[in-house]
Amino acid sequence: LTNRLNKAFRDITGKGKLTEKNMNDMLREVRMSLLEADVNYKVVKDFIDHVKEKALGADVMSSLNPSQMVVKIVHDEIVELLGTSEASINFKSSGITTIMMVGLQGTGKTTASAKIANVLKKKKARKPLLVACDIVRPAAIEQLKTLGNSIDVEVYSEGADVPALTQAKNAMEYAKANGYDTVLFDTAGRLHIDEELMQELADIKEAVQPDDILLTVDAMTGQDIVTVAQSFNEQLAVTGLVLTKLDGDSRGGGILSVRAITNVPVKFVGQGEKVDDLDIFYPDRMADRILGMGDIMTFVEQAQEKMDMEEQAKAASKMMSGKFTLDDMLMQIRQMNKLGSLGGIMKMIPGMSQMAGQIDEAKAEGQMKKTEAIILSMTMEERENPDILRASRKSRIAKGSGTQVADINRLIKQFEQTRQMMKMMGNMGKNGKMPNMGA
Ligand code: GDP
Ligand code: MG
Repeated sequence: LTNRLNKAFRDITGKGKLTEKNMNDMLREVRMSLLEADVNYKVVKDFIDHVKEKALGADVMSSLNPSQMVVKIVHDEIVELLGTSEASINFKSSGITTIMMVGLQGTGKTTASAKIANVLKKKKARKPLLVACDIVRPAAIEQLKTLGNSIDVEVYSEGADVPALTQAKNAMEYAKANGYDTVLFDTAGRLHIDEELMQELADIKEAVQPDDILLTVDAMTGQDIVTVAQSFNEQLAVTGLVLTKLDGDSRGGGILSVRAITNVPVKFVGQGEKVDDLDIFYPDRMADRILGMGDIMTFVEQAQEKMDMEEQAKAASKMMSGKFTLDDMLMQIRQMNKLGSLGGIMKMIPGMSQMAGQIDEAKAEGQMKKTEAIILSMTMEERENPDILRASRKSRIAKGSGTQVADINRLIKQFEQTRQMMKMMGNMGKNGKMPNMGA
């Protein structure tokens, strides 16, 4: 793969914009790589078409070549497709929350049931009950009981002779009578989708009205996962995914196919056979893994950081020269937001770490948001030259940003002070004297 990539790089030189021509080689590499990761070929095709359309005409970041730029866009799109927000269980606000595990045989339903019960008990202070609804596989009930035992969670079972649906209903009664607040149903799977199984699952769903129906997706799964996910989703309306066996060395591209089809979030990740091996889902890491172009991604990330630093340096020298405008201030605020919390940033600046602890984070963030809103409500001319701000302009800006004229006056005063101080520092710097920051 690396050789192919290197070749694709060599063949493309020059900067500018992304074109059909300078994207094609790399997109071909990306397609191969996704197929190698077991992403479904149809999903790959749609994905590549989408990226192509989106990327065409995009500017190439100055420190990247077009191929690297394509990989960056592809990576970002995969993250987007995998889902950027963290997802968790849909807990009922009151009453018993019910969770139903579904999936093909051997994908890890029983293991995941126990893992999730464990997390809910330990981290969310819930009182979970596990229900053994797989009466088909003889050892399934025992397996769940053993797991339940190890995490000290009760397992409800009436044995292999009572229909799963009956047991599911009875388990709800049992949970009510015994003060359980969360019930997890471990259901039967099959090697292939079949009507009888789907009917049984639909009946259980009808009876227990699950708040979550979680489909287990084995990271080692291949192309046919698409059909499987489709039928589970059509017949049961899946609400979340559990990606299992991610501790193996498969690239796990199947999850991308399933995401594309079901459009529901990955709620948990299984990382091993033990009950503690459950993790939350990191789309960024997963995208790296599926794409399998780690070297290029590292390079792209470094370039991104370098660019941010160059922007910072430019802004700093502009500040020192006194040509600092409100627009620069806006950019600074955004840069800060990108870096993380204010306290976190200050901890990294020598001499400021002590102050970091004293900051009222919420208040500071609120202030930054307000400042941002005010500047955004100004015209470019006003941002360059705040001297032109008279009462009528100020009241227009206040209205536009949902603030008071007093807020605007405060911002302008603060801005003028900053500009003066920057200018002073710049001049002193030129004289070879260090500015006295005041201890
Ligand atoms: P079910 O048939 O869907 O209930 O699947 P099981 O929970 O019985 O799991 C099938 C096999 O996969 C068992 O041997 C599990 O120990 C194993 N397994 C489940 N989840 C994981 C995982 O995240 N990592 C690894 N390595 N093995 C797993
Ligand atoms: Mg099972």
